[in-house]
Amino acid sequence: MKCYEIFNFIENWAPKGIAWEKDNVGLQVGSAENVLTNILLCLDLTEKVVEEAVKKRCSLIISHHPLLFRPLKKIDTQIDKTSRIIAKLLHYKITVYSAHTNLDFTKEGVSFKLAEKLKLKNLRFLHHLESNQIKLSVFVPFSHIDTVAEAIHQAGGGIIGEYSHCSFRTIGTGTFKGSAKSNPALGNKMNLEYTDEIKLEVLINSFDSSKIISAVLNAHPYEEVAYDLYPLSNKNVNYGIGVIGQLENSMSEKEFLNHVSKSLKNKNFRYTAGNKRRISSVAVCGGSGSDLLETAASKKADAFITADIKYHTFDEALDKILLIDAGHYETEIFSLDEVQKRLKKFLVNSNNKVYKYTGSTNPVNFFNI
Ligand SMILES: [Zn+2]
Repeated sequence: MKCYEIFNFIENWAPKGIAWEKDNVGLQVGSAENVLTNILLCLDLTEKVVEEAVKKRCSLIISHHPLLFRPLKKIDTQIDKTSRIIAKLLHYKITVYSAHTNLDFTKEGVSFKLAEKLKLKNLRFLHHLESNQIKLSVFVPFSHIDTVAEAIHQAGGGIIGEYSHCSFRTIGTGTFKGSAKSNPALGNKMNLEYTDEIKLEVLINSFDSSKIISAVLNAHPYEEVAYDLYPLSNKNVNYGIGVIGQLENSMSEKEFLNHVSKSLKNKNFRYTAGNKRRISSVAVCGGSGSDLLETAASKKADAFITADIKYHTFDEALDKILLIDAGHYETEIFSLDEVQKRLKKFLVNSNNKVYKYTGSTNPVNFFNI
C-alpha cells in the first residue's frame, strides 16, 4: 500500500476543498508514493514525534497542524527546528501529511469529538460553511438515467446532510440535429431528432465538479453531453465550523465547569461567568474559535467552549454566556482518536499499525507553586 491511498481515504471524509483558503493541508514532506509501513498521528510535528516515528517504523506521520505554514526561505538545520525536522524526515524516508481545517470543518471532525467528549447530544454544526456547491443539470435518455445518476452519486454528488442519492428528475423532450461528421447514439445524422429525455438535477461540491463531470461523460451514451452547472448561494449543510449540542441533564455553571475539567482532563482553564442560568445548550469549537461567540449566543447556547480567547472577548461575553477557554491542545487532541479509529478500520486486513504519539506536543504549561 502507498501513502496516497491513506490521503484519499482521509480526503473522502475531510475533503481538502473545504479547508480554509489560507491553510496548507495535504502532503507536507516526502512522497505520496512512499510505501506505507505504520502511521503515527500527532497534533504538532516536533523532533520528538519524528524520533518516535523512526522507533515505531512509521513511514507516514499525519499531523493536524501543518508543518509548513509560512514559506521557508532557507533550510538551515543549525538554527531552525523546522529545517531539522525536514532533514530527519527525508533521511528516514518518512512522509508527512496534514489534515487541518478540513478536519475541523467536517462531520465527526475536531469539534464533534470535543462535543462527544463533553457528552453533548443532538450534535449539529454551529455555523455552516459558505456556499461551495453547484447545481448540476444533465439531460439523459431514459435508457441511461440510473447509470448516469449512480455515476454522479458514486463520485460524491447528491449528498444533503444525512441523505445521499438526492436528485430531481423532470421528463421532457430533447432535440438535436447532428452534422455530417456527427455520430449520434440515437436517430440519424443530418436529421432533426426529438427524443424523450430526463433532466437530472443534483447538488455537488464545487471542488468535486471535474471528477463528477468526467463520471457523467463516461456513463452517458451521447457523443455530446448537454449539461449545465449553476453556482449557488446556499450554505453547505454538509460542512461547518463548531458544533452545538445539549447536555442530557442541565447543570449549574459550577457543575458544568467541573464537568469540562474532568471530561477534558484539564485542571487549569480560563472562563468568564455567564448570566447564571443553568447550562443545557452548549456550543464548542476546537482550537481558535472565538469569532463564533456571537453565533453561539444567537443560537441560544448557555456556554461556549473554545480556545485562544482574548481579554476583550471575555469581556464581551460577561453576563451573557459562560465562555470557557479550555486550551488549544486540550480542545483538539481527542480528534486523533477518531482519525485512529477510522484508519484502523480501513487497514484492518493489513499489517500496518496506526499509533498516536505517546507524549504531549502542547507548548503551553501552567505554573503552580
Ligand atoms: Zn489547532
